[in-house]
Amino acid sequence: MAPTVVRIDQASPNGRLLDASRPIIDIEDEGYTRGDGVFETMLAVDGSVRKFPRHLSRLDHSARLLQLWNPGQDAWRAAVDLALGSAPEGTDTTLGREHTVKTLLSRGTPEEGAYGLVIVTPVPATTIEQRTTGVKAMLLPRGHDPAEDSDLPWLLSGAKTLSYAVNMAVLRYVKSLGAQEAIFTAADRRILEGATSSVIMARRTRSGVKIYTPEPNHGILPGTTQGAIFAGARDAGWDVGFGPLYPTDLMEADGLWLASSVRLLAPVTHLNRQGLITDGDLTEELMEFLKSH
Ligand code: PLP
Repeated sequence: MAPTVVRIDQASPNGRLLDASRPIIDIEDEGYTRGDGVFETMLAVDGSVRKFPRHLSRLDHSARLLQLWNPGQDAWRAAVDLALGSAPEGTDTTLGREHTVKTLLSRGTPEEGAYGLVIVTPVPATTIEQRTTGVKAMLLPRGHDPAEDSDLPWLLSGAKTLSYAVNMAVLRYVKSLGAQEAIFTAADRRILEGATSSVIMARRTRSGVKIYTPEPNHGILPGTTQGAIFAGARDAGWDVGFGPLYPTDLMEADGLWLASSVRLLAPVTHLNRQGLITDGDLTEELMEFLKSH
């Protein structure tokens, strides 16, 4: 089924619906030819985008880092409403009708300049399945420590750019090893993040449960899903911790998840082929935190 596409540019700041069966991208578009642009991938349930303010604020941050035109939050809200209102029904799940909403900003062509797109599709069944069946993950070195990039603005640390070829390559690599997911490590074996997800780990303590994630902003993308879960956990009086985490911490955890906006939480069932503890009740509790933030 063709996606529903809305374009935002200086001429139509609140977006206009495009015919997705017609050509949309100019061959000289630098978002396409150079990966020069930024994006967000969000989940809409029953027509309402989850964690919309968190996504809009990260999109704004990414656009600033690339010195890219951004139409602003009101324009994005109007364009996303238009796209969702024009889209066929989303995938029917226990949460409701689910759509993936991708917003992107491209540098465009030198003549026409930057523009934005909203692309709405039903969430694939394979993504929804991972919430319950979980994923097998492999630890792989990132090659350099991204924390070292933080002070070098041209390396765009913390921006969610369109240049995802490395993230896609690592997923192909782990698939050849019989897994579905990769978790990057730094040279000192510190845990960083998944290829397209944040890492969350739980430990049961005498007083309850403590959840951990590698320290955001140290060269890894601050995940909106992780942020929302930790905000909900704090409100509920849970203890939360921010790394550093090492492979043995994950191996010995009482629960390990990969968190991202559309998949939500995928329990990691195996890490480097070793079976891990999975806890359906804990997964449910973390999912509840997400609903309130
Ligand atoms: N880290 C990376 C590298 C990602 O690509 C993503 C999502 O695409 C995440 C983390 C999770 O971010 P979010 O929870 O905001 O979807």
